[in-house]
Amino acid sequence: MKKENIITANPFQSMLKQLAEVQKIIKIDANIFVQLQSPQKCLEISIPVKMDDGSVKVFTGYRSQYNNARGPYKGGIRFHPLVTQDEVKALSGWMTWKCAVAGIPLGGGKGGVIVDPRTLSEKELEQLSRGYIDGIYKLIGSRVDVPAPDVYTDSKIMSWMLDEYEKLVGIHDPGVITGKPLSLGGSKARSYSTAQGAYYVLQNFVDKIGLKKGASIAIEGFGNAGGLLAEILYKDGYKIIAVSDSKGAIENQAGLDIIKLSKYKKEKGSVLGFAGAKDLKSDKLFAVKTDILIPAALDGSINVKNANSIKAKMILEVANGPVTNEADAILSKRGVVIVPDILANAGGVVVSYFEQVQNAANYYWTEAEVLEKLKKIMDDASEEVWKNRQDYKTTVRMGAYISAVKRVAEAMKVRGR
Ligand code: NAD
Repeated sequence: MKKENIITANPFQSMLKQLAEVQKIIKIDANIFVQLQSPQKCLEISIPVKMDDGSVKVFTGYRSQYNNARGPYKGGIRFHPLVTQDEVKALSGWMTWKCAVAGIPLGGGKGGVIVDPRTLSEKELEQLSRGYIDGIYKLIGSRVDVPAPDVYTDSKIMSWMLDEYEKLVGIHDPGVITGKPLSLGGSKARSYSTAQGAYYVLQNFVDKIGLKKGASIAIEGFGNAGGLLAEILYKDGYKIIAVSDSKGAIENQAGLDIIKLSKYKKEKGSVLGFAGAKDLKSDKLFAVKTDILIPAALDGSINVKNANSIKAKMILEVANGPVTNEADAILSKRGVVIVPDILANAGGVVVSYFEQVQNAANYYWTEAEVLEKLKKIMDDASEEVWKNRQDYKTTVRMGAYISAVKRVAEAMKVRGR
């Protein structure tokens, strides 16, 4: 999700800044570092769609392939009116670091189309989805580059895209796209994997920074990631004291009944007006008294304007890029532990990887098997990131980048790049 009035700097410049910061710590070979500062390839395509009124509209799409030293490029496809080439490039870089920090054998990629899909009919949306694949199919493949859903794309769109790809190449190759429905080879638990992965990471860090199980939590965004995570945390005994959506926020310091709230949100379309809680303006969520703050909606939502009002001891970045570089500096100075997006929301891509493994084997796992394997990966990655933080006396974000960038650089080095 993105704000209409973007506060963030150019996302690609933000990513480069993070890279420059980690390079100061790990000092990898300059000839490798220079190659990490741009995608290996970034394609721009034009997608003509015959609209329902008979006119033809041409949409612009991108596919950025950032780095494939550790495995095929991997990353979602975003349909959003504010997509830019630089955003797609940045997201493809972040996917590279996300797969590397999780230790899964994949590289990083990302796609996007400049469109507001809510303005399209079903027929137009299907044409656009198929047209996007027509434009990029020579660049993708289950062992080359593997797309998935992202903002405003879902399993239905993935099904059309898979069908188009398989028609063009003439073979069954379900592992070319993840986030598919179960009937086309999707994985069990994929639909809530980001939330589940974030929950495992949160559990690790709650222990490490000395918070108690049952600590208070505020969540920005009550959608696929934030809403499902709220349910998992609530069932595990955490006290969710505030949540927000695009219409506003609600707070009850005694704790919200998340099961009732999810039902209420489905019926009313917003969390506002929920019985027993007081309504707040969306941005007031950041200032509530809470132990843990979870931004799960917008990039750049925690910025210089609100960083000083934040009272939480820990921030878990479930959204991509929710804390700007400037806010990160303010909060880190105050000792707030920020668990970065490349670790906190990696559960989605980890289960995408499991989906591919199951497709390749043509043998499917139970939900319990998926969750057990996901937990192990998220626990190990959290442990390693924390160790880097201690060993290098740095932030948790840099702890994650240290693992990620070292792994990618090592793979490039042994390849002789
Ligand atoms: P979503 O569309 O399902 O939910 C977004 C939520 O944010 C909605 O509840 C919406 O009302 C709310 N929102 C919008 N504007 C807001 C505002 N101004 N204040 C407060 N809330 C606002 O999207 P999602 O899939 O949950 O994704 C959310 C974030 O998580 C994005 O940054 C996305 O990139 C990231 N993410 C999601 C996944 C995933 O698997 N869903 C994986 C990795 C990262």
